[in-house]
Amino acid sequence: MKALFLLTLLSLCASAETHAPEDRQFPVPGQVYIPGKDTGFSKYLTKSLRGTQKVVLTFDDGPDVVNTPRLLDTLKQFNVKATFFILTERLNDQTLPIVRRMIAEGHNLGSHHHDHVSSDTKTEAVYRAGLKKSILATASLMEEMDSLNREIYYRFPYGAYGSGSRTYHHLNVMKEVSEELFGDNCINFAFWDVDTVDWLTDMTPENIAQNVMSNIFGGTAYEFKKNSNGSYSKVTYKINKPIGGGVVLMHDVHKRSVDSVPMLLQMFKDRNVEVVPMQEVEEFAYKGKECRLRI
Ligand SMILES: [Zn+2]
Repeated sequence: MKALFLLTLLSLCASAETHAPEDRQFPVPGQVYIPGKDTGFSKYLTKSLRGTQKVVLTFDDGPDVVNTPRLLDTLKQFNVKATFFILTERLNDQTLPIVRRMIAEGHNLGSHHHDHVSSDTKTEAVYRAGLKKSILATASLMEEMDSLNREIYYRFPYGAYGSGSRTYHHLNVMKEVSEELFGDNCINFAFWDVDTVDWLTDMTPENIAQNVMSNIFGGTAYEFKKNSNGSYSKVTYKINKPIGGGVVLMHDVHKRSVDSVPMLLQMFKDRNVEVVPMQEVEEFAYKGKECRLRI
């Protein structure tokens, strides 16, 4: 009995060890990713947040000169930290002070690439140059500002990677760029668990907040459908088995999205939902690993 127990314990430890790298969202250090084969999204969901009533708030496609400062005001009011996946081509004299404010107020500055073109349509040289430029821009800003957060988070535009061109795989390039910039495997790519569908023009701020709450507790939610004329419209559905926590995808370039945040954060307060920073989540934790630019 004791032997069996020990054996079970040993095999549990072994399997935990075998699976540990898979649980991390860094590209796995020793793995060579194969284009067209190593694709998909589901294995990168944030499983550790399931059922916890904890969420990570992420905002893509900014900075926006009007909406991002409004969002920062709300986050400050509720004392909540978020992660911003910015498009570094949007950095200019008007937006740089907004990004510096993000860093100063303790938010994570992530890269959503330099431009918003799907990575799957790019040649290796174009993808590599855009990634390097974008990561260098965000990491340099964090270093200049002496940011408390130095984790290097990245999100693919449209979540697209690994397909398209069959001559290279984006995750191999990511490791090479990271090695060049930091001398280590530092870029942690992030997807999302809850899509608020806030890009859809007929979503209201209430609908956007409702989408998040229904993914935590169940209930009415909204998704999009493509019409025969190519336009998109909103459809209502029910979530009966909510995931109960995860990474939330929103966009700080839309007024409706930013308008939804005060009501969402009030709902979180009322129902004990906790907003956690990305680095406190198992899949995104750096665990003391230091990543500093070496160029
Ligand atoms: Zn985007």
